[in-house]
Amino acid sequence: MSQETTTTSPITREQAILPPPPTSKTSSFCKGAISLQQNPRSLKHALRLQTRPDGLYNHTRLFQCRHCHFSGPSYTSSSSGKKEIISDPTIHISSTGIPYRWTYLAKSHVKTKMVGEMGVTGMTSFACLVCMGVGRMSGVYGGVETLMEHLRDEHGVDGGFVLD
Ligand SMILES: [Zn+2]
Ligand SMILES: [Zn+2]
Repeated sequence: MSQETTTTSPITREQAILPPPPTSKTSSFCKGAISLQQNPRSLKHALRLQTRPDGLYNHTRLFQCRHCHFSGPSYTSSSSGKKEIISDPTIHISSTGIPYRWTYLAKSHVKTKMVGEMGVTGMTSFACLVCMGVGRMSGVYGGVETLMEHLRDEHGVDGGFVLD
């Protein structure tokens, strides 16, 4: 069997995480997602740490988008001896087999109006960075798995690299 295909050629990691041009009225992304696409290393520009009560005596700190209710868990990293609050470093595997980190979802999210369960992104819709990157109007995908299926079916993302 040949690896070659004449229909869709799989995209590279660079193409999959490329920030789309900072336009546009047609963009479906939340402003917070766009901010993160432009400055992927500057989490705090797009997200703020929010403390929410968790039971009587505990609290949980979440990263929440500055422009909507999209949120995700925070972790404490103490690499290099210095404590630092970071976003979820876990590599999640979608049911399509495509591995991703929470930051990829943050970069792809569409403005989320409703407050969901803490840290749960199930109520969030996503737009496609790859479509936007090639100047195509992205659809809106209701949930992580739907986005991943789109990436696999439309763009040939095959799980060979982590989306982040
Ligand atoms: Zn947002
Ligand atoms: Zn797409």
